[in-house]
Amino acid sequence: MIRLNLVRLGDEEERLALEVIRSGRLTQGPMVERLESAMGRLVGTRHAIAVNSGTAALVAALQALGVEAGSEVVTSPFTFVATLNAILEVGATARFADILDDFTVDPQALEAAITPRTSAVMPVHLYGYPADMSRVTAVTNRYGVALIEDAAQAHGASVDGKNAGAFGVGCFSFYATKNVPAGEGGAITTDDAALAERVRLLRNHGMRRRYEYELAGHNYRMPELCAAIALPQLQKLEERNERRSRNAARLTEGLVGLRGIHVPTVVPGRRHVFHHYTIRVSEEAPLNRDTLGSALAERHVETGVYYPRVVFDHDCYRNHPNVLWEPMPRAERLAREVLSLPVHPWLSDQDVDLVIDAVRSLISAA
Ligand SMILES: *Cc1c(COP(=O)(O)O)cnc(C)c1O
Repeated sequence: MIRLNLVRLGDEEERLALEVIRSGRLTQGPMVERLESAMGRLVGTRHAIAVNSGTAALVAALQALGVEAGSEVVTSPFTFVATLNAILEVGATARFADILDDFTVDPQALEAAITPRTSAVMPVHLYGYPADMSRVTAVTNRYGVALIEDAAQAHGASVDGKNAGAFGVGCFSFYATKNVPAGEGGAITTDDAALAERVRLLRNHGMRRRYEYELAGHNYRMPELCAAIALPQLQKLEERNERRSRNAARLTEGLVGLRGIHVPTVVPGRRHVFHHYTIRVSEEAPLNRDTLGSALAERHVETGVYYPRVVFDHDCYRNHPNVLWEPMPRAERLAREVLSLPVHPWLSDQDVDLVIDAVRSLISAA
């Protein structure tokens, strides 16, 4: 089977994990600090604060910005559910702006979704492809609303040389299958010292000195063992993102022009880090997305659908008072069309060619 995701940990991860075990210090200690410095360097922000998940990063960012009940946050309807849950968790109301065929939020729709109650917008750099940040920041500047980037899938992605997570408040995930996997974990990146300080307080029950509380906080602390696994992954990120990009370029070369198959868009200046390599199987294709996915499984190629529905298309959100959904025609169509193919760094050229041949022969034979 050619796997969709693969995690391989090595000697350095073992060495650092052992260092933690021998130190007896199990949470938010020196290893977490090293991870934070490395994240700050990667993203190019003055501050990086580690937390215990990408979801916690989004929640803490919203809280630190003062987003609460009565405010609206505009986000993408085509994302992992954590983006929406974070907005609801702080008591805010979610609105949506439809996406483009490159899966990122449409800046024009984003602008149209802003109301006098909007306090933040939260674009998602889906699959590792950054949103059109010059147009997104033009909108947030014009309306004076905060910008939170859901960069959970986008470690190392950039727009015109500026990294995802450096445009607004960056939120990253170190979940087990992300480009920097640690099991669980997350980070917030920012240049704003006061905001960074609020996140640090929120992460540890609002406590600055032992048992003295400045605000009502939470426990978002990251375990040292997770940081020990994440740190070497981060040090190898550049090389691995390069391999993902090479695999993606090979896939694109092999799949471009097949009837009804649309390869991922990458415009000059925007660096895609291919957390997923996602094609669209449109109506013109001789097979629909699900049939193609099962036929590929029979040929030992694992595929994934991220995500089969728009994020609010479940009763718990459709009926939620804080979810202001409207029809999202492009996101709804893309949810029917997307299919992610293996692109991880451990695929050989031969593996990639097997994936290409399998798709080509299924499309041509149909
Ligand atoms: C993974 C992910 C998250 C949440 O991260 P966790 O670490 O799993 O909590 C949020 N948004 C997106 C787009 C993600 O892919």
